Amino acid sequence: MLKKRILPAIAALFILLVAVLLIRTFTPAGSQMAGEAFDFRPDTARVSRLMSESVRFKTISFGRDKPTSATELRAYHAYLEKQFPLAHKALKREVIADYSLLYTWTGSAPASATNKPVIFLGHLDVVPVVPGTESKWKQPPFEGVVADGFIWGRGTLDNKVNIIGLLEAAENMLQQGLQPTRTIYFAFGHDEEQGGIDGAKVMADVLLKRGVQAEFLVDEGGLVTQGVVPGIDAPMALIAPAEKGIVTLELKVVGEGGHSSMPPEQTSIGILAAAIAALEANQFPRDFSHTQSFLEAVADDMPFANRLVMKNLWLFKPVVMGAFEGDKQAQAAMRTTTAATMIAGGIKANVLPIDAAAKVNFRILPGETPDTVRERVMRVINDARVEVSFDGSGQKGMSPSPVSPTQGFGWEQLTAAIRDTAAPQRMIVTPRLLVAATDTRHYRKITPNHYRFTYMQLAPSDLASIHGTNERISVATLNDTVRFYFRMMSRL
Ligand SMILES: [Zn+2]
Repeated sequence: MLKKRILPAIAALFILLVAVLLIRTFTPAGSQMAGEAFDFRPDTARVSRLMSESVRFKTISFGRDKPTSATELRAYHAYLEKQFPLAHKALKREVIADYSLLYTWTGSAPASATNKPVIFLGHLDVVPVVPGTESKWKQPPFEGVVADGFIWGRGTLDNKVNIIGLLEAAENMLQQGLQPTRTIYFAFGHDEEQGGIDGAKVMADVLLKRGVQAEFLVDEGGLVTQGVVPGIDAPMALIAPAEKGIVTLELKVVGEGGHSSMPPEQTSIGILAAAIAALEANQFPRDFSHTQSFLEAVADDMPFANRLVMKNLWLFKPVVMGAFEGDKQAQAAMRTTTAATMIAGGIKANVLPIDAAAKVNFRILPGETPDTVRERVMRVINDARVEVSFDGSGQKGMSPSPVSPTQGFGWEQLTAAIRDTAAPQRMIVTPRLLVAATDTRHYRKITPNHYRFTYMQLAPSDLASIHGTNERISVATLNDTVRFYFRMMSRL
């Protein structure tokens, strides 16, 4: 009797569950609309030449202890002035902190609470070519060779693309007699690759002192790519509304020393090793929220089985998190990562070590701070013999950014310009946490709306060329970068 009543009830529940899953699977998120094509074609030959020539300025950031060549930076300033005459006439250009460039393009309407300025960031400096890798470059890194549809060289992607893209878009708007309604700033730092302390931070302070409160800010950090999510072929614009923080902790143990013939049960090296092992065995907890927003935004484009899962994360989240186990990239987006990167101790094989020290580098997920990381590390190690301190000259690392909203004016303007640039091709637009750091962090007091994105389409195989070998940008994508900024600024 009982069985007879329960079975239909279970069957009904099962049918209901399937119905819910399917309804959710087939309800589009509405975030993947098509763009509206627009008629603006940059002068391709000119844009290629501008990038090619820009690469030849060796504005290399070697580190704060070895200054970037003042001659190269100044020569690059002068070059930009010459190549973008209309922009340099219409925009106010200020040299800040000797080498950074701050441009102000005053809007046609006065600034107000509903007409706040917008800031675009870029940086003039580039990273060095790692000594010993020069021969691996298919084209020399600082000659700006144009070949096979690409402009080759250090800085083409990181980040002279922003400099050329923004200035050329402004130049073209001015040629057409266009002026933005809002005031637009271009803030081009000269030391992003060494932390932005001497450039971006000073520019942000200047703006702050002038009382500038911006509507939103667009910086490097996101891009367009393809084929990174299995089953999705359409190109995908990844916008980073947040970035991770960073801190390095030094673990230090001081032992008694002495002859190794009569050792204590644990030497300072053993104690230190146990501490590191404890940290690796007790990773930071996972926070799925950033990955979830990403997956939900792209789910509509997935094949049925994957879509069923991603549209129903309320049910399948544990399965998905399990599937990401062991995936380094996925883990980096889900937790504060722990990487023991340096270790030192001992002087001789038969002498007990006195000092033993290690450095552990953490990339901090939004929600934590360098202080909370240190607290947790001390708790996990749980050994008073291990001293845990912030590494570096009194610097405590850097907190992760707040998470900017994926809605509202800035987000809408940005995503619309992305879709319009791609049109008639459809573009998937999705937020994704940036696991690296940008100059954006210095501008937190100027606006809470930070979007890290440059319209440049890169094959997954080209991603490693940023800071690596064979950095290059395709002529086609550089054209699109200019079109994107043109479209976006024309409507601000
Ligand atoms: Zn960069």
